[in-house]
Amino acid sequence: MADGHTHFRASIAVDVILASGLIWMGKNGAPVEVFNGVVVGATIGTLVTPDFDLVGTTYTEALLRNIPILGVLIQITWYPYALLSKHRGLSHIHILGTLSRLLYMLFAMMIWTWIINGALLSVGIDSVYHVAARIAQYCINNPTFTLSMLLAWTLHDEAHLLLDGKRKKGKIAWAQVFPRASFPKKLIKIGT
Ligand SMILES: [Zn+2]
Repeated sequence: MADGHTHFRASIAVDVILASGLIWMGKNGAPVEVFNGVVVGATIGTLVTPDFDLVGTTYTEALLRNIPILGVLIQITWYPYALLSKHRGLSHIHILGTLSRLLYMLFAMMIWTWIINGALLSVGIDSVYHVAARIAQYCINNPTFTLSMLLAWTLHDEAHLLLDGKRKKGKIAWAQVFPRASFPKKLIKIGT
């Protein structure tokens, strides 16, 4: 079981492999969408790790905390994700884990847009979903970009799971995926 620092170094190694691939593809005339997709996917894959399911501060979250304000906001943003997913549960399932973080990021963007545009600037409800919707629309309209991004991101996550010594195929125990399903019940109990 690797620690955060080891995972981060492995991610940098994956980035070096991806960068080498990009240089090779550049020489062979790959479209610019591939470059953009790989760069975006590799950046997210390096910073947003499957260990964001940990309630405490992860290695990359500690690194991101060096960015004033934004670092703290990123950690606050991922806190509910950590509450909902048991460590090494949903977040650590092949492909599904990556997908869960993709959807969560879009959802988080909606919330932040609502807070900034709707609640703070009173811009109105129409603008609430714009950022997430525009990103989603861009991804749908640019499948080459999207596929490249997802491949680079997935490669990072798979390297992480490999280092974690992930469970074998067909061994997903769903009770282990959402063990914090009791979380709302606990809240109700406290409330009553
Ligand atoms: Zn892990």
